[in-house]
Amino acid sequence: MAAIRKRRPENVAGSFYVDSTCIDCDQCRQIAPASFSQTGDQSAVFRQPVTPEETRAALEALVTCPVGSIGSTTKLDFRLGLESFPKPLEDGVYFCGFAAESSFGASSYLLVRPSGNVLVDSPRFATQLVRRIEALGGLQTILLTHRDDVADHAKWAERFGAARVLHRDDYSSRFGPIERFLEGVEPIPLFDDLVAIPTPGHTRGHVVFLFRNRFLFTGDHMWWSPRRRQLYASRSVSWYSWTEQTRSMRRLLDFDFEWVLPGHGWRFHAPASEMRRQVEDCVAEMEGRSDARRAS
Ligand code: SF4
Repeated sequence: MAAIRKRRPENVAGSFYVDSTCIDCDQCRQIAPASFSQTGDQSAVFRQPVTPEETRAALEALVTCPVGSIGSTTKLDFRLGLESFPKPLEDGVYFCGFAAESSFGASSYLLVRPSGNVLVDSPRFATQLVRRIEALGGLQTILLTHRDDVADHAKWAERFGAARVLHRDDYSSRFGPIERFLEGVEPIPLFDDLVAIPTPGHTRGHVVFLFRNRFLFTGDHMWWSPRRRQLYASRSVSWYSWTEQTRSMRRLLDFDFEWVLPGHGWRFHAPASEMRRQVEDCVAEMEGRSDARRAS
């Protein structure tokens, strides 16, 4: 719970505020950009929500904040935020909200499928979210993009009897049992609508998942940078190998997709042709050819 005594002075006057425990995960700025912005290396409320839509978005941010840094000094209907999640994006794909501190506030996603629902990375194991996912049919499979964003995977797997999928190169004993290991760097069909594409770089066993040839769940391999206005991968968080991550990015040119749905960073949606151009630019920049591309 946010504490009013820790209210950051950078917040504008009014009900909503961010306190000094913020870990700068960026979730609130993505969910409610009309109200939250970055000041220094933390978030603050730069404009109080006015419309019902803005208030709902601020409450969704409050619910999603992994460390409870967002508070309100007036009595509000918190169910508006709680009941928003999982939040539909498109075609059976949902954003889970309820980010976990152990995943540094990473995003996770739910895929509602006739043949069994899939969770991509792990949200907080929160009662309200468990009930909502149960009402949507529970979970058959939990796909883990890499070792860092696994949060409460064990609780989710136990609650729904779901099988977890992780690349063997990211496994350590702290995970406990994992039901299916992936190996190698070749694409691995998981179901008729889901492919695992190993993308070593950020970690040795990082994997992205392609759903229905439209939705690419990228973990921490790649995300949209609103400041740069481009798809982006960061050398500073390439814990295993930037060279390998660059190769992994190039291999993504073998696939068409329309959505990039990352763990950290912003989502991006564009026609497949524009997405391909974005990935090509990203590869060029990683290979040190970005000036050549711009000149051509
Ligand atoms: S969601 Fe919470 S921790 Fe993340 S940036 Fe916003 S206030 Fe900070």
